[in-house]
Amino acid sequence: QEGTVSLPEVYAACTKRMQQVKDLNAFITTTNHEKGQDISQGSLAGLPFGVKDNYCTKGEKTTCASNMLKQFVPSYNATVVEKLCAAGGTIMGKTNMDEFAMGSGSVDSAFGAVKSPWKYDFGKSEDENDWYITGGSSGGSAVAVATGSCFFALGSDTGGSVRSPAALCGTVGLKPTYGALSRHGLISLANAMDTPGIFTRSVDDAALFFNIMSGHDPLDSTSAQHTTPNVKLAEVEKVKDLVIGIPKEYHGPQLSPEILDAWDWMAGKFSDAGAKVVSVSLPNTMHSIQCYYILSSGDVASNMARYDGIEFGHRGSGSSFSEMLADGRTAGFGNTVKQRILAGNYFLLKQNYTKYYEQALKIRRLIVNDFRAVFAGNSTGGSGVDLLLTPVSISTAARYSDFIQANNRSRCAEHDIYTQPANMSGVPGISVPIKISKEGLPVSLQLMADNFNEQTLLRAAKFIE
Ligand code: GLN
Repeated sequence: QEGTVSLPEVYAACTKRMQQVKDLNAFITTTNHEKGQDISQGSLAGLPFGVKDNYCTKGEKTTCASNMLKQFVPSYNATVVEKLCAAGGTIMGKTNMDEFAMGSGSVDSAFGAVKSPWKYDFGKSEDENDWYITGGSSGGSAVAVATGSCFFALGSDTGGSVRSPAALCGTVGLKPTYGALSRHGLISLANAMDTPGIFTRSVDDAALFFNIMSGHDPLDSTSAQHTTPNVKLAEVEKVKDLVIGIPKEYHGPQLSPEILDAWDWMAGKFSDAGAKVVSVSLPNTMHSIQCYYILSSGDVASNMARYDGIEFGHRGSGSSFSEMLADGRTAGFGNTVKQRILAGNYFLLKQNYTKYYEQALKIRRLIVNDFRAVFAGNSTGGSGVDLLLTPVSISTAARYSDFIQANNRSRCAEHDIYTQPANMSGVPGISVPIKISKEGLPVSLQLMADNFNEQTLLRAAKFIE
């Protein structure tokens, strides 16, 4: 609050909070700011933020939560980090995550799992604590914001990695349109779906940081050529001009009654406020998880090739080049990463390419077409919807002990079911906290809009927050 708290006080308060909740393991690296350093320049005036550890940060370790990159110190900032720093943001630290962003729980990190602050008993030891998962893979960023260790944080969303942890930790989580924010300096998982995303405590803040970061970047060939107009939100947002679609395929059998109730209740709230709420169909979206697995593993197989200990990454030992390579990669990568490299290379084999990879690309096109069809016409007065309202996750956060019963792949399949389709099609999505469940955990809902329509997305998000 301007006028009442000075910046060094804000910074000191965040640092203190970070210390108080350090058992949650949200940060891999904390940044040291020299005493007396002027952190009050720019419109953000020194505001502290967290950066997921898969964004390159100049002079600060960037590990991707992997032994492979434990010692990697980039020589440049990712574009989005650079823009935030230029606006006066202060990096508090690099946040913990699933290794190379492959996961849905933030439990597969070389630095240990991230724990949710919700119902965490700080008086108990780790072994006695039956803690809840944060969702993933950007769990560290979600915890950093939920606990007040920083004001906002960067995450990355390839299949739901911003929206899922935001939902389970009770923060706002925005995944903008693919191409609206630059990927330059964000270490790749699946290039055609990776999207920089933002964790905040309010929708207004999400709009503020989105506006600072959006815009064409010549350093990212997939960055949109046109400039996304700045999002402007009113004090109170009205929704009576909007058409809200409820996709019938999202009523899956695994959906918990509590999430379903919140979803129905919110659809009713839109209706009461004068919006038109209609049922829509996205028939192919439920194939997106299988399709994603094939396409993203293919990208992983290629992207991980650079970690050979010569160009990048942990250098192994051995008497020949191949021994050294095998030794470095055996020690450097965790099991999930190794499995995905193998799967990706299998799908890309000459004899398998048509059978798997090409089919997955075709299904991706069908999924994109589903989204195009429901949104079609909304800007020209046609019959399309402006927004889709859906759950983010099938239930509230699971306990760690239950979550780890399944393997990484099944966990992702279960957790990304409502978030992954937006990455397939590139559309923007946002997770907004709605209420607290009977068990005392956050319940959140998702809104999705047509490409580059962050304005309408955030307007409606402000209405429901
Ligand atoms: N859970 C998915 C995966 O592991 C998506 C992760 C993400 O969005 N980064 O690949």
